Amino acid sequence: MSGDEEYLHRHAMADRSLAEGRSAGIAAYSLPCVNLNRNENPFPMPDVVMRAAFAAIGTHNRYPEEDSGGLRSAAARAYGVSVEQVIAGNGSSEILALIYRGFLAAGDTVGMLSPGFSFNHKLAAVNGARLLEVDWADHNALPASQSVRQAAGDAKFIVLANPNNPTGTFVQIAEIERLVAETDQLIVLDEAYVDFAPDNALGLIDRYQNLLLLRTFSKSYAAAGLRIGFGLGNPRVIARLRSIQNPFNMSVISQSVGVSILEHRNAYDQCIECIVQERERTMVALSALGFYVLPSHANFVLARVPLGYDGRWWQQALERKNVNVAVFPEGDLGGFIRISIGAAEQMDTCLSVVSGIAGGLI
Ligand SMILES: *Cc1c(COP(=O)(O)O)cnc(C)c1O
Repeated sequence: MSGDEEYLHRHAMADRSLAEGRSAGIAAYSLPCVNLNRNENPFPMPDVVMRAAFAAIGTHNRYPEEDSGGLRSAAARAYGVSVEQVIAGNGSSEILALIYRGFLAAGDTVGMLSPGFSFNHKLAAVNGARLLEVDWADHNALPASQSVRQAAGDAKFIVLANPNNPTGTFVQIAEIERLVAETDQLIVLDEAYVDFAPDNALGLIDRYQNLLLLRTFSKSYAAAGLRIGFGLGNPRVIARLRSIQNPFNMSVISQSVGVSILEHRNAYDQCIECIVQERERTMVALSALGFYVLPSHANFVLARVPLGYDGRWWQQALERKNVNVAVFPEGDLGGFIRISIGAAEQMDTCLSVVSGIAGGLI
């Protein structure tokens, strides 16, 4: 096998054993499930990163670094910022939770461009905050800053994701910059999917004190189970968040894998490229089957199902064939399913099941 073939073969095998292991745990005779509902990345860790994980297990009896200093320095080097501009956490959702805890009192308001990341609903509820959803009707552009300002009123901060989840759409960084420049409110820009997109807002954090970026290794770096995420922004905002964070929050394994990923980011280029190619192939195939697919710059696609049945119906029909996808029955997205993009074999299975169901409807 050539290097490329071996790489892809290894991925296919890892994927299969993963699926078999999962199904073995659930029911002895069920077929392996294709899980395309959580935007996970099925590709295995590069060997060099796996070795860092094993080495970290060897230090199991010692507490990790209290403030993840080594990981924060590695992130600062990789992203070209200072270590005071970086906070590390157990996934970016930990950082998002700290933002709610750190910047809100009960009764305060948070603005969110909607539809957006559903975790914000839970965070607002547990913090006694009011979540004010700003309608994001044209997903490929931001609403005018004026209308965001009006709608978000006295919100303590405004959250938006770019690329957005669950739409997958991407807005130009110049539009983000305009919004950040035209408000005093803190803008929390969640860039969970940025490695699948054409551009990012990292270059803005030195110029705008009210911009806080969130990054995660759960999606493009296939580390969702290890919980590694970052906040990047103004040192005063970062210091406030660090001051309320638990000591020893990240394990030795997540800190050390995080450093290793940062030092070997180009080992992931091929995996990210595969996902982008599969995404384009999936979009074309779904469109041919009668779905309307939103343009995606993430590792998933949001597709409106053909007329006649809703997203929930399709989710259940797919689930009976062991393919899991996500739906959003509340709000305006009841007619859509969100399909995560995995390896070619997974997408082949998914597309042939979709095609079989669509064929049965004619
Ligand atoms: C998946 C996702 C995250 C990542 O959460 P982690 O805690 O880092 O795993 C953050 N924001 C959005 C919008 C996501 O879809």
